[in-house]
Amino acid sequence: MKNVAVIGAGTMGNGIAHTFAQSGFKVQLIDLDESSLKRGIDTITKNLDRMVAKESITETQKQETLANITTFTDIAEGVEYASLVVEAATENVDLKLKIFKQLDEACSDDTILATNTSSISITQIAAVTSRPKQVIGMHFMNPVPIMKLVEIIRGYNTSDEVTKTIMDLSKTLGKVPVEVNDYPGFVANRILMPMLNESIETLYNGVAGVEEIDTVMKLGMAHPMGPLQLADFIGLDICLSILDVMYEGFKNPKYAPCPLLVNMVRAGKLGVKSGEGFYDYAESRKAEKVAKQFL
Ligand code: NAD
Repeated sequence: MKNVAVIGAGTMGNGIAHTFAQSGFKVQLIDLDESSLKRGIDTITKNLDRMVAKESITETQKQETLANITTFTDIAEGVEYASLVVEAATENVDLKLKIFKQLDEACSDDTILATNTSSISITQIAAVTSRPKQVIGMHFMNPVPIMKLVEIIRGYNTSDEVTKTIMDLSKTLGKVPVEVNDYPGFVANRILMPMLNESIETLYNGVAGVEEIDTVMKLGMAHPMGPLQLADFIGLDICLSILDVMYEGFKNPKYAPCPLLVNMVRAGKLGVKSGEGFYDYAESRKAEKVAKQFL
């Protein structure tokens, strides 16, 4: 496997492109327009600069990594030579189904199609293609270049061979893959999201303030980041859509999103990416501080 196409140059897509390129793969990074691609490449460059400053890579490795990435705005053109496509576009079921139909038509027959979705059913995505055995979840964690875990999600029809290929490939990226089955939230979000939702509910019920809740969980449970800060970092819209998928998927009220979370998303308070969530990032530059904790 030499050529890997990555769909979406946002938070996750640029991290995935960075990770593959740093491991020597040729990466075709695809997004809707040049400005999104430029933002993605700028982020990768900034993160590589930070790694050079910390002496975890050399300037030459940085240049080689960047040289491994080419950018495209046309999906068919970008995936032409790809043995693997990792889709990391916006979390929206209709969009993902449309992209996978397009990929199925544009890619060669043996190309493996992976999605980085946080919550959408792999089986549902695979069903719109003519190759459900070759469709798999490759759920990287944020920030991708730093976080070791990749949840490898087998759809109902994903073959053993494809699962093994993707497990092995994840190891060559220096990651630790964990194989899980395709049920709402998989494993990571099935456990994490109810905790974040409960933290928001605790705030909503007036039990304690934002800083207090985060301090209890950081110092009491040795979590590196408080749950409300983590929700801001993930994106409150993403948290809401994952909870909605679990609520719908299990038909169980224990996954119902807290009304405060729903209201904040409606009001455009999405966390770090919008400049305000449970914390005010625009004023205090906390967004950068949060990112620096990891990178
Ligand atoms: P994002 O909004 O930062 O980036 C999404 C990118 O996809 C944007 O640049 C957008 O322009 C692009 N895009 C939209 N439609 C496209 C299309 N048709 N073709 C090409 N590009 C298109 O989102 P993100 O946070 O990077 O999330 C991407 C995926 O990763 C989602 O499925 C999300 O659930 C998943 N995920 C997110 C996190 C996280 O912490 N943010 C963690 C794990 C998984």
